[in-house]
Amino acid sequence: MTKQFSFLLFILFSISASAQGYVEKDIDFDNMDLAPPMKIPLILAGNFGEMRSNHFHTGLDIKTKGVEGQNLYSIEEGVVSRVRVSPWGYGLAVYIDHPNGLTSLYAHMKSFSPAIDSLVYSVQKEKETYVVDENVLDRGLKVKREEFIGLSGNSGSSMAAHLHFELRETKTEHVLNPLKFKCYQRKIKDSTKPTLKGIKVYAVNEKGYMVPGRSKYYHCKYVNGKYLVNNGAPIDVSGIVTDNSYLGFAFHVVDKLDAAHNICGVHNTFLSKGDETFHEQKIDYIDFSYNRYLNSHQDYYEFKQNKRNVHKNFKTPVNGLPIYPKANGLFDWTNCAGNYKFKAFDVHGNLTSINFTIKNTGTSSLSNPLDETQNYFYPDSVNTLIYDDFQLLFEEGSFYEPLERIFRIDSTNRYMSHEFTFSESEIPANKYFDVRLKTPKLPDNFPISKLGIGVISDKGYLSYRSGQYVDGWVESTSRSFGKFVLMVDSVPPVLKPLDFIEGKVISKYRTMELKIEDNLSGVWKYRAYINDEWCLMYYNRKKKKYVIPLDKRSKPNLVKGENKVRINALDSEGNKVEKIWTVVY
Ligand SMILES: [Zn+2]
Repeated sequence: MTKQFSFLLFILFSISASAQGYVEKDIDFDNMDLAPPMKIPLILAGNFGEMRSNHFHTGLDIKTKGVEGQNLYSIEEGVVSRVRVSPWGYGLAVYIDHPNGLTSLYAHMKSFSPAIDSLVYSVQKEKETYVVDENVLDRGLKVKREEFIGLSGNSGSSMAAHLHFELRETKTEHVLNPLKFKCYQRKIKDSTKPTLKGIKVYAVNEKGYMVPGRSKYYHCKYVNGKYLVNNGAPIDVSGIVTDNSYLGFAFHVVDKLDAAHNICGVHNTFLSKGDETFHEQKIDYIDFSYNRYLNSHQDYYEFKQNKRNVHKNFKTPVNGLPIYPKANGLFDWTNCAGNYKFKAFDVHGNLTSINFTIKNTGTSSLSNPLDETQNYFYPDSVNTLIYDDFQLLFEEGSFYEPLERIFRIDSTNRYMSHEFTFSESEIPANKYFDVRLKTPKLPDNFPISKLGIGVISDKGYLSYRSGQYVDGWVESTSRSFGKFVLMVDSVPPVLKPLDFIEGKVISKYRTMELKIEDNLSGVWKYRAYINDEWCLMYYNRKKKKYVIPLDKRSKPNLVKGENKVRINALDSEGNKVEKIWTVVY
């Protein structure tokens, strides 16, 4: 039944995530004088270190009075080091390197200043692409302190008009908490304490993995100036922890600032028992390579089920976050009873705390599902699932918690293979893992280079992953669990003009618009030419259409009379379409 394959040989990776300790940043947070990025009052919609989907938020989300178009200014003199333009993510964004060792970043912009705009356009023109993410330090575009750099907007994956503002240490690219800088702390006042909403207790194994089904959430109440949990009575954990398990805690704590109701994140927390502090969390900076370990820091089951972002105060080997000055939050079940204290500070130093008591009257042995080790894949080892026609390979650290081996094969005719379901799409994976599906017998002229793997979520959403054909198998990678099926994409995208056709008079047009649709692997690259000169064409994400602006940059390519408009598009499997229209100007 099981076979050994050569692809197992490249499991030479190892994780040393847990070796990464807490490091204080050597930056003069108290005395550095930085200008604000806008001249309107700075009110936050989100802060640094807030828990978001798969990441901690890496900047400040600053309100822009609900509208686009606020002036943005460089916080210090510097050189434009990187520019980005995309319908997704940061949208329009500028990075500026400053002589003080910091890089500032302004994202979701509406437009750039004329100097930055012409730099961006020259990159776009060189690469013949609207989407750019380019290091431009060597072009030497200097900006002065408080120089206008563009307008705030709502571009990229932003949901509402705001400025996403980040500060990074230039040499390491670690993102810093802007509110650690006193110059910004003074401008964004806060005297509101963090809010403690609840405490969750867990049975945890010796490595800090949560024992399935053995946890309980207790709401906290604020009564007469003090927080109470379980109405002030001791929490009896005897139905939760037992033989071979440890007690762990998670805290549902958020911060609010004075000027708005938006929920933000806390900065520094402490868990102590008696006089001793066992666990400390302090979020001063984030290393991007570890940011996805948010899924290990929080209890993602609690988030999926109850939309609560809780901070676990215990840590597994698969958690490289540099945010724990102390990480000893596992309390042996035999002596976990006692008095505990939890303290949470926001970055301005406002404090919320709670005292609570744990008792453990239990002696009975509750079953621990994790003891049935054959039922689980463990995150801190290499794992393989090997069948005759379906295989998965996980490096160490590919997921966060022991993963139940849920596997099912459905024999249907809907796809080129059976449907192989592994685990649940709601469970996050940390790293891409290898997926292999055996191909059926294929005709001689079959386009094997265009085979891929479809990953279908529990809700039926399909994402297509391009594959590589090797000896009767298709290999690809995925970072999502769900249903895996074999597919082929040999169909090019389709170009559908919206406001022009062959022979159309476009003299009064300010844009030409079209749709580009792809059946499976998705539109990857797209280009437009007027009389064989490249012209900018962008994707309007909100209106789901492609737009060629007819402006001062593209118009010089138009001639009186007939003009040739050529558009091409490529999907992720390399299927290409190109069409030419004649329009009249
Ligand atoms: Zn943001």
